[in-house]
Amino acid sequence: MGQIQLKQVTKSFGDVQVIPPLDLTIQDGEFTVFVGPSGCGKSTLLRLIAGLEDITTGTIEIDGKDATDVVPAKRGLAMVFQSYALYPHMSVRKNIAFPLRMAKMDQAEIDKRVEAAASVLNLTDYLDRRPGQLSGGQRQRVAIGRAIVREPAAFLFDEPLSNLDAALRVGMRLEISELHERLKTTMIYVTHDQVEAMTMADKIVVLQAGVIEQVGSPLELYRTPRNLFVAGFIGSPK
Ligand code: ADP
Ligand code: MG
Repeated sequence: MGQIQLKQVTKSFGDVQVIPPLDLTIQDGEFTVFVGPSGCGKSTLLRLIAGLEDITTGTIEIDGKDATDVVPAKRGLAMVFQSYALYPHMSVRKNIAFPLRMAKMDQAEIDKRVEAAASVLNLTDYLDRRPGQLSGGQRQRVAIGRAIVREPAAFLFDEPLSNLDAALRVGMRLEISELHERLKTTMIYVTHDQVEAMTMADKIVVLQAGVIEQVGSPLELYRTPRNLFVAGFIGSPK
């Protein structure tokens, strides 16, 4: 399960409305990419879905249930940050286990989930290291591992690869796509990088100044961009 529905959602910071009324449905299991230039509202939209920001008006439903006033920890979603936000003094194992320990999960179940996540992410040999002893790509995997163990209804990624060098970024894109293939869990992925959007998405949501310009598959956006902004941004010939 992992359908997310935004109905007439707006967000204002003080007097400034950064998201005008917006409707969007993300289907269960879909890999959706929010793409658009810096400042267009991608992170804000993701944070509204995660519950890290309160929406100003409108509603958010997760799997058909109103989640507008549900606290982030109870939404069943897991956010992966670009800055990793790992605890430097804790081992990889403890970093990955952290959300489960906070939830007071049974230790045997924690161990089982951490081992399974580490196996999926090729981190089994690194569980006793600290984040400082890992490469950038490995640290990013630990951050993803910490999301996986929660078995979320959806993963929310905010430009997770922007701190990595170009070569590593290509590899991590493949890893995240493969993870989606394997888990088939809803993923929302924010990027300002058109190549990332075109290569990873089932569905792309193109944003400009808080407004959805178009929603469609990469091919649809490429072949039939609705306007010059989408055409220019996606790099299609029109
Ligand atoms: P993006 O992630 O696409 O770069 P953001 O969602 O971070 O864009 O920002 C969208 C707009 O909202 C920008 O104009 C930004 O300055 C504004 N904004 C974001 N967060 C805040 C905040 N906490 N207070 C005031 N303005 C904000
Ligand atoms: Mg952002």
